Amino acid sequence: SMEPETSHNNSSTPLRLFVDAKKKINEIFGEIASHTRESKDFIAGIPSDLHVVSDDLQEKVQGFYTQVQGIREVLARDHMKVAFFGRTSNGKSSVVNAMLRDKVLPTGIGHTTDCFLCVEGSETNESYLQMDDSTQKLSVQNVGQMANALSNERICGQSSIVKVFWPKSRCHLLQNDVVLLDSPGIDVEPDLDQWIDKYCMDADVFVLVSNAESTLMRTEKSFFHKVSQRLSKPNIFILNNRWDASANEPEMEAVKKQHLQRNIEFLVDELKVVTRQQAEDRVFFVSAKEALITRIPRPSHTPDSSGPLADGFQARLFAFENFERKFEECISHSAVVTKFEQHAKQGKQIASCTQDILDEALQQSSKKRATCIEKRKEQTDRLQYVTSQLKILTGECKEKIKDIAEQAETKVSAAMTDE
Ligand code: GDP
Repeated sequence: SMEPETSHNNSSTPLRLFVDAKKKINEIFGEIASHTRESKDFIAGIPSDLHVVSDDLQEKVQGFYTQVQGIREVLARDHMKVAFFGRTSNGKSSVVNAMLRDKVLPTGIGHTTDCFLCVEGSETNESYLQMDDSTQKLSVQNVGQMANALSNERICGQSSIVKVFWPKSRCHLLQNDVVLLDSPGIDVEPDLDQWIDKYCMDADVFVLVSNAESTLMRTEKSFFHKVSQRLSKPNIFILNNRWDASANEPEMEAVKKQHLQRNIEFLVDELKVVTRQQAEDRVFFVSAKEALITRIPRPSHTPDSSGPLADGFQARLFAFENFERKFEECISHSAVVTKFEQHAKQGKQIASCTQDILDEALQQSSKKRATCIEKRKEQTDRLQYVTSQLKILTGECKEKIKDIAEQAETKVSAAMTDE
């Protein structure tokens, strides 16, 4: 096999940073959810005539519970998103396919769709399509059918976005929660602003697929100017694709140097999204076509029908892998920050606020208890006093009765002696 040694060991990919963080934050929010649920139920169970927790605070805890449920739903759906842009035929679909390691999306001159294709992992190991916001699944049996269905005018011509569900087990990007968005050529769409608002605001990484046979076009540049006006410091990679076509050019090294310099100037000086040093890891010279050819699964014993690859293909494959590595590092770091940081802060705040309210409840009830004890003591004292008074009284009564009885007796016996 021509394929250079690569580790596709799932645990070694930088994407795990996001996947592990997602698992952890989901677990933590599970705990926050049960904590807020218990607090809410506990507070609701306190008789309101005790006035231990005010109605305001009780509502607040109830609100936290609802908020936590909302955050959990968002967290469960969170993924990393990469969006591919460039002029028609620069090789966007070929890049996506190379990364998916199969010919999932249709490629070629004939194919010019004006809809977005969004590839994400299918949980069920089935492959299917979904048009726009419909939940109807259009089942596709294999990779050939998928590309065919996507070339179908009826499906792509009438939708603005088609979701492509592809088995997670077929690609480690999908397995690790990456969603790939292929766009129509930026040369065919007049309203780029709307595109950005509709499809790009939640993209963690943008990949500009440019044609190494020409310099960056004005449409390509202006698109990314718009993106960086909307999003603060977007992560942008530039793939100078079709580099194989220049393999035999005598001026190849000079051309490469010039492209590199211009690309870096664009990212650093024009867009100001990275430093000069960082920019070196954002520009790559690749051949998506070659990368795809070497990666497509072939039954063993079938000869490679792709023909010989151009000079220097090993270096281009290596560059493609290098791009993928840097891309994975970048997207997972970025997504952890943009997707989780805000939620982590909110979770912390909710937990500590709930704690404060419970503390307040404890304090209020302790105060009430102290007052009760005080009152009870007073009453006990009074009772004791009354009891002792009664005792004295009883004693005095007995004494009196005795006296009276004695007197009566004396009188009686006196009377009897008189007789
Ligand atoms: P898209 O319109 O940007 O999605 O471009 P496609 O991926 O459909 O590619 C357009 C044509 O260029 C197809 O025939 C591809 O096979 C071809 N192509 C894509 N990448 C390369 C490459 O790196 N080298 C060469 N020589 N051809 C390529």
